[in-house]
Amino acid sequence: MRRLLLAAAVLAAFIVAPAARAWTWPVEGTVLRAFALTADPYAGGQHRGIDVAAPEGSPVRAASSGTVSFVGSVPNGGKVVTIQTGSGYAVTALQLGSTAVVRGAAIEEGAIVGAVGPSSDTVTAEPHVHLGVRVAAEPEGYVDPLSLLPPRSPAAPVPQPVPLPQPVPAPQPAPAPQPVAVQQLAPVPQPAAPQLPPPPQGQPPSAQQPVQQPGAPGRSRCQSSSRLRSPSPPRRLDRCRRLDRRRRLDRCRRR
Ligand SMILES: [Zn+2]
Repeated sequence: MRRLLLAAAVLAAFIVAPAARAWTWPVEGTVLRAFALTADPYAGGQHRGIDVAAPEGSPVRAASSGTVSFVGSVPNGGKVVTIQTGSGYAVTALQLGSTAVVRGAAIEEGAIVGAVGPSSDTVTAEPHVHLGVRVAAEPEGYVDPLSLLPPRSPAAPVPQPVPLPQPVPAPQPAPAPQPVAVQQLAPVPQPAAPQLPPPPQGQPPSAQQPVQQPGAPGRSRCQSSSRLRSPSPPRRLDRCRRLDRRRRLDRCRRR
């Protein structure tokens, strides 16, 4: 882990180092208008620099180290500062509201040369800095500043500690299945017992119905009476059977 952090720090140092080379953004803002220059320097739509947005009053830094060759104002350009670099470029910052350097001064890269002023550009109305870079020996030797400035993003990475691997949580046992709540079901209505159709007329009675013996009505009636009151032993039935009908009935009723 320590070796990895050391390697990251060394790598970051190599990445940060080129940012300290010859070019610095004058302000920290977005590019509102890009560089545009065709072979015909008098054609329309030319833009001999880039417009970098910044709030009015923001400090404007020297894009490169060199000697201040011009401080003044230009039509539609506000206050202007031009620096002659050791590498042969004339670097001009326009649309300034104020200047902080004098002609002939030696300027280090990143030093404050002025502040952003109100825009006097007819195309870019927002406050901004117009940065123009020209090969000083060529009157029309403008180059795209973006080809010289360090890339805006990503920013120089700050070595971040490598996050430790997160401990993998132990697999949790699957939750036991919850018993399904037994629903209190309403009693299912039982189907009604099928109603047996009444026996057709003229058919003999079924075996379950008591068969009326035609020859022994008294016995049947006596048996019925005895059954209704109390079970009688067969001996009593025999005696009952021997009596005449009236007496039999009376005795049966008494019991
Ligand atoms: Zn411009």
